[in-house]
Amino acid sequence: MELFWHRRDLRVADNVGLAVAAGAGIDNADRGPAAPVFVFDPDVLDHASDVRVRRLLDGLAALRDDYRERGGDLLVARGDPETVLPRLAEALDAERVVWNRDYSGLARERDAGVRRALDAVDVSREAHHDAVLHDPDAIRTNAGDPYSVYSYYWKKWTDRAKDEPAPAPDADALVDPDRLAEAVEVVGAVDESDPTLADGGVDEPPVAAVGDLPAPSDLGFAEPDAAVGPAGTEAARERLADFLDEAVFAYEAERDYPAKDATSRLSAFLKYGEIGVREAYAATAEAMSEATSDARPDDAPGQVEEFQQQLAWREFYTQVLFHNPEVVTEDYKEYEEGIEWRDDPEEIAAWKRGETGYPIVDAGMRQLREEAFMHNRVRMIVASFLTKDLLVDWRHGYEHFRERLADHDTANDNGGWQWAASTGTDAQPYFRIFNPMTQGERYDPDAEYIAEYVPELRGVDPEVVHGWHELSPTQRANAAPDYPAPIVDHSERREDALAMYKRARGED
Ligand code: FAD
Repeated sequence: MELFWHRRDLRVADNVGLAVAAGAGIDNADRGPAAPVFVFDPDVLDHASDVRVRRLLDGLAALRDDYRERGGDLLVARGDPETVLPRLAEALDAERVVWNRDYSGLARERDAGVRRALDAVDVSREAHHDAVLHDPDAIRTNAGDPYSVYSYYWKKWTDRAKDEPAPAPDADALVDPDRLAEAVEVVGAVDESDPTLADGGVDEPPVAAVGDLPAPSDLGFAEPDAAVGPAGTEAARERLADFLDEAVFAYEAERDYPAKDATSRLSAFLKYGEIGVREAYAATAEAMSEATSDARPDDAPGQVEEFQQQLAWREFYTQVLFHNPEVVTEDYKEYEEGIEWRDDPEEIAAWKRGETGYPIVDAGMRQLREEAFMHNRVRMIVASFLTKDLLVDWRHGYEHFRERLADHDTANDNGGWQWAASTGTDAQPYFRIFNPMTQGERYDPDAEYIAEYVPELRGVDPEVVHGWHELSPTQRANAAPDYPAPIVDHSERREDALAMYKRARGED
């Protein structure tokens, strides 16, 4: 028997570590059965948010139901994994604890602690690469360094062979729910002699259950105001199949237009690992075969490839984070003199509320508040606005996204923010500053996306919406009395931003 520890891989199918632990593969038929567990770790919860806790619980409910359909169940525990996992392994008499690797600095520290705790009680452990198609060490420059330029990384990434999806375990590869229940009783019992209970805290053994999930309030969180969207493998597969049916063949042409339903909306599923990346990639490879058939226009393969490129961006940023764990809080690219951010609390608050008087920015920030999601083009626009119009440190934006996005992923979120702030790997050059009005006009010409999220501007002529910064107070009052005037003048702030970066570069 093996204990499989789920973390950011809330799925049964195409789960490398689980397939191995359960003995579901050809090469490991002597392994298993597997007892799956998810552990609510107080240290991880310290960094969570209402949105992400809700999304996580939905993903766990779907995972548990998948196990139940296969005749198994999910163990749900609460406590420090360094305490919980050795106790569970012992209670189950498990030979091994298996998990899939996570690549952030914090996760790696936690995993090192768990390895030590398991070694101390002589339980073997094993970690697998699963979250990405090519692990962060696999693709390096010819000189052996990690890549910092995406286009070169992509060339190697796309040429490499990709693994097939990992097989899903069936019922006899999963530990019987009654056996899980017995183990839970042992784990929950107070054992005064157990040295793994910190500070002699014998009256607080880890909490464990079979399949029972806590409410957000049990974990110290509230129900979010935002609708976090569907969760689980089935929903992910439906979404992917829908997207690959038609939209992918126009992906490159339409992905920048937020009013269109032109992107996959897979990000939260990928973040929580509700769909395996091998499975997702294999489906895109099928779409590529269709794209090259006569039934599709000549540019169809390029459209599908553009989508595969986004999956590669995810892996590029994963390897950036893996090799540079400090980027979570520090600039990847340091400017000689340091950037003197402005950080005006009122302007930051207006940005967060979606009341900057720049319609595309406000629509994005309100989409974030309502849906815990934002379209990629608009993420770039609001991030540029915060850093280069409000001259606010990207860390404020990252914190806000981290709290509000259901798909928050340390590597991608950080990569996105540092790209916009011109401090990242392969980032936007500092002198490229988005004009929020022209961006809105180009990518939301009919102001449809804006009207969806900014009710004050509904029914207002798109020309008026896109010319909002040029209107007089009377014209604004006549067109949309409840919508604010721009809080800053973009042309002035553009000059201020250029001066800020030049000073940081020591050019002043
Ligand atoms: P699609 O266009 O359908 O792309 C498919 C998948 O590729 C995405 O689900 C995602 O996993 C990956 N992907 C797409 N674009 C990127 C990218 N630029 N970088 C890395 N991976 C990408 N993405 C996150 O998953 N989590 C985040 O926390 C996050 N924060 C961001 C913050 C900023 C400031 C910016 C500019 C971008 C951020 N992104 C983040 C990247 C991107 O905006 C989202 O992945 C995308 O909007 C999700 O929508 P989708 O699934 O429909 O994407």
